[in-house]
Amino acid sequence: MSKKKFWAHPGMMIDFVLKSLFKKPATVNYPFEPMPMPPHFRGKLKFWPEKCIGCLLCVKDCPAKAIKITKVGDKKFEAEIDLGKCIYCAQCVDSCPKKALEITPEFELAQISRNKLRLTYDESGSHPTEKKPG
Ligand code: SF4
Ligand code: SF4
Repeated sequence: MSKKKFWAHPGMMIDFVLKSLFKKPATVNYPFEPMPMPPHFRGKLKFWPEKCIGCLLCVKDCPAKAIKITKVGDKKFEAEIDLGKCIYCAQCVDSCPKKALEITPEFELAQISRNKLRLTYDESGSHPTEKKPG
């Protein structure tokens, strides 16, 4: 229906307003409620140290040179991912033969200091520890 026709019939307008009152809003209540992300959204990376074999394929294939793998013990590896350089392409996830890297829907990554975007995932678990500025 054209806009002109709509405003010329107040009854239709009231009907439209009443219907809209009971419809689910099209907007979202973010940041007061979690923002649902679409499937396959590429956010912050997660590293599973127990799966890593140190093949360095992720390092070789990363177009942004954002990932570094360091041997820290016998068959133990640590990953450093610079979220400030990462372009969230998930190439490293595709390249990893052991599924030691995973993309998560986490997108709230803003930091005041760039140093806080350099995350070190150590051998103790999959949760990153922030690298101290320096
Ligand atoms: S998501 Fe892309 S840019 Fe980020 S570390 Fe992996 S390969 Fe590199
Ligand atoms: S590609 Fe996977 S297994 Fe190889 S070094 Fe990277 S994270 Fe480890």
